[in-house]
Amino acid sequence: MSASNIAFQKCINPDCGADFDCGQVLFKCPTCGELLDIQYNWDKIKLPGKLSDFAKRWANRANPLDFSGVWRFRDLLNFCDDKYKVTIGEGQTILQQNDAVAQYADIKPGRLYLQYEGLNPSGSFKDNGMTASFSHAKMVAATSCACASTGNTSASVALYAHSCGLKATVLIGSGRIAFGKLSQAMDYGAQTIQINGDFDDCMRQVLDVCSRLGLYLLNSLNPFRLEGQKTIMYRIIEGLRWEVPDWIVVPGGNLGNSSAFGKAFYELKQLGLIERIPRMAIINATGADTLTDLINNKKLTWNNGKVNQKIIDDYYAGLSARNFSPHTCASAIEIAHPVNLKKCLRSIDICNAVCRAVTDEEILDAKAIIGRHGLGCEPASAATIAGLRNLRAEGVIDADERIACVLTGHPLKDPNVTVNYHKENQGQFSNPPIEAPNDIDEIIKLIN
Ligand SMILES: *Cc1c(COP(=O)(O)O)cnc(C)c1O
Ligand SMILES: [Zn+2]
Repeated sequence: MSASNIAFQKCINPDCGADFDCGQVLFKCPTCGELLDIQYNWDKIKLPGKLSDFAKRWANRANPLDFSGVWRFRDLLNFCDDKYKVTIGEGQTILQQNDAVAQYADIKPGRLYLQYEGLNPSGSFKDNGMTASFSHAKMVAATSCACASTGNTSASVALYAHSCGLKATVLIGSGRIAFGKLSQAMDYGAQTIQINGDFDDCMRQVLDVCSRLGLYLLNSLNPFRLEGQKTIMYRIIEGLRWEVPDWIVVPGGNLGNSSAFGKAFYELKQLGLIERIPRMAIINATGADTLTDLINNKKLTWNNGKVNQKIIDDYYAGLSARNFSPHTCASAIEIAHPVNLKKCLRSIDICNAVCRAVTDEEILDAKAIIGRHGLGCEPASAATIAGLRNLRAEGVIDADERIACVLTGHPLKDPNVTVNYHKENQGQFSNPPIEAPNDIDEIIKLIN
């Protein structure tokens, strides 16, 4: 019945496959408990003949939906009427070719591109997802919402909630959130609750809170959010003059992006809008490397949707047995129980993806290189360049392949990590300030 609509929600478990109307507010399949996807009856949607036709919308930028870097592609995420759509100018991002960063990663000139998602209104890629999920929240007439967050989700939720009149509550782990992000949640007016625990604890609590109080959940379990995040890939293709790169490199935290990106490419290929699907590299931090460990060591695979649940259960039991709590300077990816794991497995299958983990030292050095030669980014984003460099050294990626790295957050999100790196001489590229007396001759002697 729902499947006759333009869009509907569908369980990703092939043994279940239940479908639901988009008007229903669900976080997981009520039948089997698995994740939900948004699916479309494409034959009921009028699509452009080719992707480059979307460029015509640039000419109509006085319409906020055409100005938005998400809704410009609205035909590919057609789940709600225009009258419900919430936009604050998200997705005005830059795809920058960067030869100096390419050199650091041993990639040939002209082949490396950086996708700056930190240029979004709240300073991270999360806005791509929030514009979509808040539009759904308006469609179902939600009045109050909540999320668990490592920081950027709370900043984005707080911003979108106040611009469309919803009350927002955000749950964060005490001491686990970068100052830039915490300042945003408070400044944008969200009720901010600090829990004595890590992100995974917050995630478990928010699920309970939302079902008990009937709040609208905005974590990436929300399948509408992932529909918005697909557009990051459309903009990369747009930035490459409607060509597909060879590789997408993305940091892996709760695995919403990697899940959304694989879905985006799968749909574009199915619709005949692209000819091939790029490969993907998903980069964890070594202190929060659940995905990498499960894929590379425990041989977990999508297996046409018949995922071996025992491997996952045993793995998580092992983490609990040793009281494991994830730790990395890249707080945005400090997650040990990624909620989108199974959708990510599907993306790994679609994109023939690889997973790697990089150390905090590698992340911080890569971040300094992106700062010195590019527009800068926050630590989690720099995991992409650190991972790329290692994959290049391993020979998995060739020096002349065309690569797009998704820089997920703005450099000002986490000033503490940056200041410590430079001031305390923590890495190869530290650029510490020099102490000088208040004396012109002494100052001039120091300038070289
Ligand atoms: C949320 C976030 C991530 C993690 O993305 P997932 O989609 O959860 O894997 C990475 N970097 C930044 C800056 C983030 O805010
Ligand atoms: Zn189901």
